[in-house]
Amino acid sequence: MTRTLADAAAEAATCTRCRLAGGRTQVVYGVGSPTADLMFIGEGPGFHEDKQGEPFVGAAGQLLSRMLAEIGLTRETVYIANCVKCRPPGNRDPMEDELEACTPWLVEQIGLIQPHLIVTLGNFATKFVLSTKRGITSMRGSVYDWHGRKVIPTFHPAAILHGGGERSPSFQRLREDFALIRRTLDELRSEPVVVPEADAEQEQLELF
Ligand code: URA
Repeated sequence: MTRTLADAAAEAATCTRCRLAGGRTQVVYGVGSPTADLMFIGEGPGFHEDKQGEPFVGAAGQLLSRMLAEIGLTRETVYIANCVKCRPPGNRDPMEDELEACTPWLVEQIGLIQPHLIVTLGNFATKFVLSTKRGITSMRGSVYDWHGRKVIPTFHPAAILHGGGERSPSFQRLREDFALIRRTLDELRSEPVVVPEADAEQEQLELF
C-alpha cells in the first residue's frame, strides 16, 4: 500500500532518533493540506508548538496566519512544517546531529506533499534548506530554483516581532516577500510543473 502523509506522521510520533525526543511533550510533525502546492519550513517547535502539537501556533504563528490571509491563503490550504520536529530545550538552535537525524522526516514530507513552492522562514531554515552561508537579509526577496521546485526565503515572523513589529522596515520587507509568494504561486499554477516522483530515499541523497 502507498505510504501517506498520515502514515509518516504516525510513525514520526514515536521517533527516538535523537536526544530531542527526551525533552518533548510531543512530536510536531506538520499541519495543513497533504496536497499543498505551497509549503512553509521553520526552524523547530517552540514552547506552545510543543504543548499543542502544531507548528507556528504562538505569536509568530499568528503573524504567519495574518500574512497568509493578506495574500488570500489559509493555514488549511498550505502546509507548515519545521526543520526539526521536536522542541530544542530553551528554544536553542537544533544541533548538527539532531538535524541529521530529523532530515529524513522532512525529505519524506516534501516527497509526499510535492509542493511547487517552498518558503523558508528565517535564517536557520534558509541556510539549511538552500545549503548556504548567506544570511536571510541578502537571500530574501528572490526566488531560487531548488531540485525542480522554487524556494523563497523570508524573515522568521518571530524576528519581526522581536525587531520592532509592524513599524519596522523588516515588516515591509516581509509584506513584499508575501506578495512575491502570491505572484510566484499564481505563475506556477498557470503553467504545468514537472516535479520529481516521490522517492524519499533518492531525494534524501539529493536534497540536503
Ligand atoms: N518557530 C519556528 O521556527 N517554528 C515553529 O513551529 C514555531 C516557532
